[in-house]
Amino acid sequence: MEDPVEIHSWKGVPVQDSARWNAAFSHNPSKIKVGVPCPLCGRIELFRWRDGGRGLWEWCNGCGAVEHSTAIPLMEWLPEVSVRPRQLTALPSSIVEALREVRFL
Ligand SMILES: [Zn+2]
Repeated sequence: MEDPVEIHSWKGVPVQDSARWNAAFSHNPSKIKVGVPCPLCGRIELFRWRDGGRGLWEWCNGCGAVEHSTAIPLMEWLPEVSVRPRQLTALPSSIVEALREVRFL
């Protein structure tokens, strides 16, 4: 198996791509793995993570695009694995690390 893509820098989603980004993230809202191509790089590397009360992270492990918000719509959240990232920031680095530790990524 190939090593996961290393992300060296995260970048915000350009405003002109936000509609396509949100459309992609409408898939599988209860899961970590979104399962559709990233609208920015085309790779099937989109992931999300929710932390009740603290936020929603949406990111692409292919190109490093990331969106973080603290306004959480009430919806079902049934992640494939349960992790506890060490340090939560607006960037998903510690979430990616925690998911790699359990070999989800
Ligand atoms: Zn991407």
